[in-house]
Order: sequence, then structure tokens, then C-alpha cells
Amino acid sequence: MDLQKVILERIRDVPDFPKPGIVFKDITPLLADHTAFAAVVDAVVAHHGRGTVDKIVGIEARGFILAAPVAYHFGAGFVPVRKRGKLPAETYEQAYELEYGTETIEIHKDAFRPGERVLIVDDVLATGGTARAAAELVRRGGGDVAGLSVLMELSFLNGRANVADLDVHTMVTV
Ligand code: AMP
Repeated sequence: MDLQKVILERIRDVPDFPKPGIVFKDITPLLADHTAFAAVVDAVVAHHGRGTVDKIVGIEARGFILAAPVAYHFGAGFVPVRKRGKLPAETYEQAYELEYGTETIEIHKDAFRPGERVLIVDDVLATGGTARAAAELVRRGGGDVAGLSVLMELSFLNGRANVADLDVHTMVTV
């Protein structure tokens, strides 16, 4: 299977969503195709190798969908990073700039044991602000960021510069 082709054919461009000028990368066609969805999950696990991480962090909301089956296949736990005000217990919070606005994300303070190896998973790497803030939250929580896996990288936004210190695994780059 040509994974890049499979992914590219199943991510739909939606112009002017959620704001004029933004081309939204809609992964729902990929998620609806069980073969493609499974191949993506398997590719993340194969890239890093089972037993190499303790926790998978998924970023709300589409990151959750990818990160949960990745965690299951890794034999790792799942930890949510959520938008402000959604997590019930004590949190660390981190504000950052987004391609379309500003955002604050949070993680539970007790999400990790000290030194746990953590892989961050999301659908799209755009400006890299979200991933960078998530990595900061993991570190503040005592985790050790093993890497970042994303389905798609928007190279024209140069998000890599924001996560230059991370091991970044991208399945397709546009
Ligand atoms: P950024 O912080 O700019 O890298 O943005 C990444 C986050 O925003 C990810 O959680 C993505 O789900 C979402 N995102 C940003 N830009 C897009 C886009 N063009 N299409 C789909 N999702 C996007």
C-alpha cells in the first residue's frame, strides 16, 4: 500500500473553514475508511516501535481520534490535552498562537510519572504552535517528549521551526 497516496486521497480540502482564507484539511473521509485508518495507526506504531513510549498524548479534538488507537496498539496509556476549561482536575495551562486565532490548552498535573516517555499525536502540523505548547505541557507534567507524530504537515507554514527540538514523524507533507 502506498500510504502517502492513501492519505492524500482521503483528506479533503475545505476552503474558507473555519475562517476565510483557511483551507481546512478534513480527515473524516480517511477515518471512515477502515483500511486507511488502520494503516495510519499501524504506521505510527511501526515508526517508533512498540515498547518505546509509556504514554500517548492526543490533542483535542481530532488528535484524540488518532491517538487513542495508537495508544492501544503501543500498549501505552492515553493522555488528553484539552482546550481550557474542559479537564476536571488540576491542570497546567499553556497559551499559544494558532493559524486561525489564539488558544489555551491544558493537561492534568498528574498525567505522568516522572520521566515517562511520551509521544504526542495530532492530525495536522500547521504553524506548530499547538504541538509546541503540548510538548511544553508534557515537560511541565514531568514527562519526557519522545516525539510528535502527525498525519499531515503544511510545510508552507514552517511549523517545523516551532518544534525543531522534537523528533517529528509526518506521514504526508503538502
Ligand atoms: P498549529 O498550531 O498552527 O500547528 O495548528 C495545529 C492544530 O490546529 C491542529 O490541532 C490541527 O488540528 C488544527 N489545524 C490548523 N490548521 C489546520 C488546517 N488547515 N486544517 C485542519 N486542521 C488545522
